[in-house]
Amino acid sequence: MAFLERVNAIGEVIVIGGGPAGAVCSERLARAGVRVTLLDDHLAWEKPCGGGLTQRALRAYPFLLDGPHPKKIVREVEFAAGTGPETSGRARFTLDQPLVIYSRRVLNGLLLERAERAGCRVVQARATAVATDSARLRVLAGQAAFTADFLVLAAGARNRLLPPAAAGEPPPALGPEDFEQTLGYYVPGQSDVLKIKFLPRFRGYLWSFPRPDHLSVGICGKLEENASATLRRRLEEFLDEEGLSGRGACFFSHLLPSPRPETLLRRPLLGRNWALAGDAAALVDSITGEGIFYAMRSGELLGECLAGGQPQAYPRRLREEFGAELERAAALAPRFFAGNFAGRPVTTRTIEFARSSALFRRLLGNLFNGAQDYRTLARRLWAQLPLSLAEISWHSLAGR
Ligand SMILES: Cc1cc2nc3c(=O)[nH]c(=O)nc-3n(C[C@H](O)[C@H](O)[C@H](O)COP(=O)(O)OP(=O)(O)OC[C@H]3O[C@@H](n4cnc5c(N)ncnc54)[C@H](O)[C@@H]3O)c2cc1C
Repeated sequence: MAFLERVNAIGEVIVIGGGPAGAVCSERLARAGVRVTLLDDHLAWEKPCGGGLTQRALRAYPFLLDGPHPKKIVREVEFAAGTGPETSGRARFTLDQPLVIYSRRVLNGLLLERAERAGCRVVQARATAVATDSARLRVLAGQAAFTADFLVLAAGARNRLLPPAAAGEPPPALGPEDFEQTLGYYVPGQSDVLKIKFLPRFRGYLWSFPRPDHLSVGICGKLEENASATLRRRLEEFLDEEGLSGRGACFFSHLLPSPRPETLLRRPLLGRNWALAGDAAALVDSITGEGIFYAMRSGELLGECLAGGQPQAYPRRLREEFGAELERAAALAPRFFAGNFAGRPVTTRTIEFARSSALFRRLLGNLFNGAQDYRTLARRLWAQLPLSLAEISWHSLAGR
């Protein structure tokens, strides 16, 4: 009976944000019979993004691979590292299982359609203020006001709508140390190869992700460590190397959460009548920048917990499922991007090893496409070390 009372208590939910987190949460709630209103200022739009979906996402949401919407299925990848004396060349190889790349307009559109079909009311409106201190919370969007029992804040990395911190709790807002700046272009053209390039001791990377009718080409780097002009210059150099031009291409810039471990551990995800999902909760892999899967899955978990009358279960379920994995990524990120191994940057060594060892290439591919987690990474690295070293020695001897 107590369970039923709690279900009744959350009969109506407002979701701010119609990206992957908000759309999936709304769909899950609407399917369970909860009344949901989703507010988004743009609805289906080309949110700055690579649009890459890993095996992790495709296994959890097979419609992203099987559905009819336009997408690019990619198996060929190329990793490169370095500049000048720290250049380690390129490692190109075929992934065991593909990645799928969407334009975000298409991806957001299809997820919003699913939410709407499940019964969610989708409203194009920009929320300007939230008040969560009375029994029915209130959201203002221009002249309109919406009220509900519970607020899901899934408004992405840049939103400023967070409810105030409760006494004794850290504030839910992220610090500048928890972000990367991203810049990029949507370049007309086609390719079958996804490319990633690391720069020595640079916390971030350059990418070129092919989509059905254009490429998303960009750079991400720690917000506090990089001036936009420096990132832009590095991006232009990368475009030149790739034989691409920013002329006629559409420029974008956005923030990408890149949380520190302590942020993931301490930041509250849930208040009395509100919860955070997706980028608003900084649920992004600090090494790869993957956030779409974590946005969708956090939205789904939150929807399940709310529909079951158990909002308090959300932080625990999220941590059990992938929060601890994101904390591992956050702890490893500084060592991966800025550390040294045998006298050279770890990223340079990674590409050198990938060039010489098929086993190492496979591991890198699995890590990148979400088939290898960080929890078991060290064990796998050690287990295959003798064979990888034999391959690397053989490769260097054969190259002499
Ligand atoms: C350049 C770049 C490249 C990336 N590449 C990848 C990639 O290849 N693969 C990957 O997995 N992840 C990638 N990410 C991360 C990924 O884009 C995000 O993790 C993901 O979009 C998070 O989804 P979300 O629903 O939490 O937020 P968002 O997708 O940001 O959605 C939030 C929505 O809320 C709306 N909104 C914001 N404020 C308000 C308001 N006040 N009122 C109403 N609506 C509001 C916004 O318009 C938006 O539609 C990338 C990120 C960046 C910046």
